[in-house]
Amino acid sequence: MLNSVIHNETIIFRPLLIEKQMKNIYLLFLISVLTSISCTPINKHIEDGKLVKTDPISDSHSYSNHSEIRTTHVHLDLDVNFEKNIIYGIARHKMSENNVSEAIFDIKGLKIKKITLGKDIEVETDFAIGEIDAIKGAPLKVNIKPGTEYINIYYQTSKDTEALDWLTPELTAGKQYPYLYTQGQAILTRSWIPIQDTPMNRITYSADVTVPSELIALMSANNPKEKNTEGHYHFEMKQAIPAYLIALVVGDMEYNALGESCGVYSEAELTEQCKYEFVDLQKMIKAAENIYGEYRWDQYDLVILPYSFPFGGMENPRLTFANPTLIAGDRSLISVIAHELAHSWSGNLVTNATWNDFWLNEGFTVYFENRIMEAMYGKEIADINAVIEYQDLLTSIQDIEQSDHPEDTQLKLQLENRNPDDGMTDIAYIKGAFLLRTLENLVGRVKFDGFLTNYFDSHAFETITTESFVQYLNKKLLIPNNIKFDTDEWIYRPGLPINCIKINSQRLLDMEAWADRVNSGEEVFTGEYKNIKRADRVTQEWQAFIRKLSPELSTEVLNEIDSNLMLSAEANPAIKSDWFILNINAGNKIIRPFMEAYLIKIGRRWYIESIYQALVDSGLKGDKEFALATFEKAKNGYHFVSKSTIEGVLN
Ligand SMILES: [Zn+2]
Repeated sequence: MLNSVIHNETIIFRPLLIEKQMKNIYLLFLISVLTSISCTPINKHIEDGKLVKTDPISDSHSYSNHSEIRTTHVHLDLDVNFEKNIIYGIARHKMSENNVSEAIFDIKGLKIKKITLGKDIEVETDFAIGEIDAIKGAPLKVNIKPGTEYINIYYQTSKDTEALDWLTPELTAGKQYPYLYTQGQAILTRSWIPIQDTPMNRITYSADVTVPSELIALMSANNPKEKNTEGHYHFEMKQAIPAYLIALVVGDMEYNALGESCGVYSEAELTEQCKYEFVDLQKMIKAAENIYGEYRWDQYDLVILPYSFPFGGMENPRLTFANPTLIAGDRSLISVIAHELAHSWSGNLVTNATWNDFWLNEGFTVYFENRIMEAMYGKEIADINAVIEYQDLLTSIQDIEQSDHPEDTQLKLQLENRNPDDGMTDIAYIKGAFLLRTLENLVGRVKFDGFLTNYFDSHAFETITTESFVQYLNKKLLIPNNIKFDTDEWIYRPGLPINCIKINSQRLLDMEAWADRVNSGEEVFTGEYKNIKRADRVTQEWQAFIRKLSPELSTEVLNEIDSNLMLSAEANPAIKSDWFILNINAGNKIIRPFMEAYLIKIGRRWYIESIYQALVDSGLKGDKEFALATFEKAKNGYHFVSKSTIEGVLN
């Protein structure tokens, strides 16, 4: 998923913190080497400066007894009812060999109608639903006979099902038909399918889906290229995936091929823009394959969702869900597609075993995304992306240190009794990526690529814990190359280690120098910048410029910049987001109509959260009231994920 939670324009480096971290590093390094010799996966973390080992892994976010009996395949019979906004379903689970009298599934907000056992002849069985937890939902305990092969759960979703976003026609581009999409990650699949909802279990699936005949259904599986008149669609996903990657989207869409094995689904209104924006998709797949080997999911398509989609993209296998804000008009936000494509290796092929290991999905993916960008557009562009990420990371570390969970700047998280979404911060994404960049720099690219290619090969279609990864890293890379590297410091300790690689970009430095001159009172559009247009620089260069501008600047200067570059009115969301935050902090209220329109149109959490946060934090008269009033107008267009995050910010 591309998310990136916390960021604003202030960047402060924290040398003190790093100094503090240096204590005990040598001791931890020794422990790391010693424990790396063991073969059993163990959990470990630091408490009061000491290394604490815990029990062999289990997933605290699932009630399921998947280690005793597990689903190997699920077939879904789904009837999607847009009049009631309900899915009526049967989940037919094929179970592993077992010797137990109970199978436990995860559910949240589902109505269970009946449960039967058997394939051709079904016999009803008893079940019980345990206590409901606000985050995890409830265990669904099904009575079975030892050796039971098939369990069929008849159910329907409820109005509160968190995974489903039912959109009225007004929220689509065509404004004629309703639209539905699912979001399973992290633990929301259980709210639309009764399932063992843990990434530790990989399953295959198939589905028969009925939708209104004017709409098409698509899944993270083999997909139809066009609508059929009956509204019945059959799907097969033959590669085993974790439950969070089961996905469904229903709407009035058409397909356009972009290459021999890739294409894009979108509403007809967006077709031409999509074809322009994503023209490089086939080349991008080739570039990725050149780095880490074969793409193993056959087809790679995108589906462009409506604006309420809370993330930049979601890596549902074979069918990336993408936010329409990526259609920037100048292909400048294509790195999000590189990110989702990279998940076809990191995340989808090799998956984090629990949500505490989320960095294994996202850190690897941000690293790989940047490598794809480098292969496609050159090192300069890749470095520009990395520098902006680094700025975001430093800000996030600072914010997290001041939050209720300062320990969340560790890569390996402790999310027991917490929402796994809490772990979806720049730490997993960017600190994770910088760990890999730092390692690459130590061993050299050729060796590091060889290591990662083997890692993907030898763990394909498996899940992995942080501890198993560290063992593999020691055995295959660090020990053979005689490299001393303190992985524990990176993984189990807060903050950013001092050996983190530094990446520079002259183009960004130039933009920052320009901003500094503006801050010191120089005329804005002078010298080489006299006739500059927004299209003369890439998105990240404008971000660097805006982030460096001082909130002390007068509204006259800010408005002069705006009227020359049309930032409030016409820039893409990445630029607008930074621009609005600067203007909030500068107390410039002229931009408010643009900001309001933006917050009503866009539901992508990363972009809107930082704006609401800035309005709450500014302390300026009327800002919080404006935020509350705008949220009231906008919230019906937000997905549950964004809505609950913004509610948290405003309260
Ligand atoms: Zn991601």
